[in-house]
Amino acid sequence: MMRYVGTVPKRSSQSLLVIDYKRISYLIIQPVATEHRGRFLFILFTLPEVCGNPLLATCVVSVNRSVTIEKFNIIIIGGGPGGYTAGIRAALKGAKVAVVEVDKLGGVCLNKGCIPSKALIASAEQYEKMKEAETFGIRLASPPIYDWLAMRGRKDKVVGMLVGGIESLFKSHGVAYYKGFGKITGKNQVTVQDENGGETKLETDNIIIATGSRAATIPIFPIDGKRILNSDHLLEVPHLPKSILIIGAGVIGCEWACMMSLLDVQVSLVELLDHALPLEDKSVADILERELKKRKVQVFTKTKVESLAPGPEGVKARLSNGTELNVNQVLVAVGRSFNTDDLGLEEAGVTLAKNRSIPTGADMRTNVKNIFAIGDVRGEILLAYTATHDGSVAVDNALGGKVEKNYSGVPSVIFTHPEVASVGLTEEKASEKYEVSIGKFPLRTLGKAHAINEIAGEVKVIGDKKTDKLLGVHIIGAHATEIIHTAALAINRGLTVHQLGSLVFGHPVIAESIMEAAHDLHRMSVHLAKKK
Ligand SMILES: Cc1cc2nc3c(=O)[nH]c(=O)nc-3n(C[C@H](O)[C@H](O)[C@H](O)COP(=O)(O)OP(=O)(O)OC[C@H]3O[C@@H](n4cnc5c(N)ncnc54)[C@H](O)[C@@H]3O)c2cc1C
Repeated sequence: MMRYVGTVPKRSSQSLLVIDYKRISYLIIQPVATEHRGRFLFILFTLPEVCGNPLLATCVVSVNRSVTIEKFNIIIIGGGPGGYTAGIRAALKGAKVAVVEVDKLGGVCLNKGCIPSKALIASAEQYEKMKEAETFGIRLASPPIYDWLAMRGRKDKVVGMLVGGIESLFKSHGVAYYKGFGKITGKNQVTVQDENGGETKLETDNIIIATGSRAATIPIFPIDGKRILNSDHLLEVPHLPKSILIIGAGVIGCEWACMMSLLDVQVSLVELLDHALPLEDKSVADILERELKKRKVQVFTKTKVESLAPGPEGVKARLSNGTELNVNQVLVAVGRSFNTDDLGLEEAGVTLAKNRSIPTGADMRTNVKNIFAIGDVRGEILLAYTATHDGSVAVDNALGGKVEKNYSGVPSVIFTHPEVASVGLTEEKASEKYEVSIGKFPLRTLGKAHAINEIAGEVKVIGDKKTDKLLGVHIIGAHATEIIHTAALAINRGLTVHQLGSLVFGHPVIAESIMEAAHDLHRMSVHLAKKK
């Protein structure tokens, strides 16, 4: 039996008692009214004589461990960037909404993905800049050294602050927050199982499933969290290895390869397909591979990791090209699995795809009218910002709207070194449908790139030769993930290459390279040598 041993605020005879919900399973008083908010159970009670007694550990009244509390317009299962933003949006639209989260608010994005990885990448890039100090006219008393645990500590601080911010936003907007595992137990019912075994049944008009994804486990690469890791493990390692093999040169694999090579780790990167970042334009990927090799990263494309076994350094890997690698650790960065187990989906009649993601229409509805799915769990695009967009579509439709997702002009942003960003079609894809024109502008021709000593990379603009319609923009270089949004808006609004290039850009900025590449497509860039 658990007991509450805190104190009750001495106030009036009718008072509001706030108890840490996690610590409660038996109540010390019979409540007049209760309301769950976040991790707290608010209890309105009328026992003036108890108020006078600061120690309540001995008075125990049991409470039913499975209770039906309230009815909502929308219940969202999962508090990641899809779920928590959908909760706030629903509240802003006047709905009574609850978010159920079993782990930490913010989901993978805030706790294990976008934010922690970018905080560590920022540390690694800072270290790199310090190594270049003399180029900028700064003499350091001694060469810079980094402290991995301090970098991790900074990352945790950033994450903690942002996660705490979500709880404050929930309070401010009146979003009810239930901590526990959410399960659909009826077409209009979600049951929350908390960590103490208690159950709360919530009634609702609509359910939004926002349960996300997790790192996939692949039988031939048995992840043990020590030698063979996934990205969750790598965020928490006590020290960095001297050498690492990264399996998979997708976004996560390439971001980690860059970050670790900046931190002096010997990296080998293996990709089954014919270039790194397989979804990006090949010419951009070629430049990234070149930059990785400059930093002594071994890049193997069209190569398979055949086997992993214990070896003298930790792990011995055999590749399909006959190479044998001896490394301290391995990062498996291939694939994600969808969090759809034990959710009660089959019982609720929700159809699942073969890979256990949840298919929806463009309105985010599953095959069951009042049950929606958003974000990673849909298996279409695994990005935080599309999860947020999905959430807003689902909320609008749950509240009677008729809205469809619009991914036109959604950029891809990749935090490699140099950064990669793109929007629209790759040259290969565009060529399947259009006769294309290409404009390119190398960053080494740009004043700002020299001023900040980041001259690697280029911008590539793809247009339709017939109509001049802008079809795609691909950037590799400093600040690519920021400046891509100019091009994203242009694609979203259906502009021509001429219209993109006709904007007067500020100077000196890296974004000028977009304008110059657009001019180059018409052979009108004033900063490039005349082409024959
Ligand atoms: C290393 C890494 C780096 C990344 N970097 C980027 C990036 O830079 N930019 C970007 O856009 N994306 C990035 N991503 C991807 C991004 O994190 C995801 O696309 C995004 O988090 C998906 O959001 P979501 O809301 O769909 O799901 P999630 O973030 O996965 O959240 C789902 C939540 O649901 C909870 N949950 C699951 N089941 C239940 C249940 N039954 N009851 C209650 N709660 C439940 C989980 O605990 C989790 O908190 C990265 C991912 C990784 C792994």
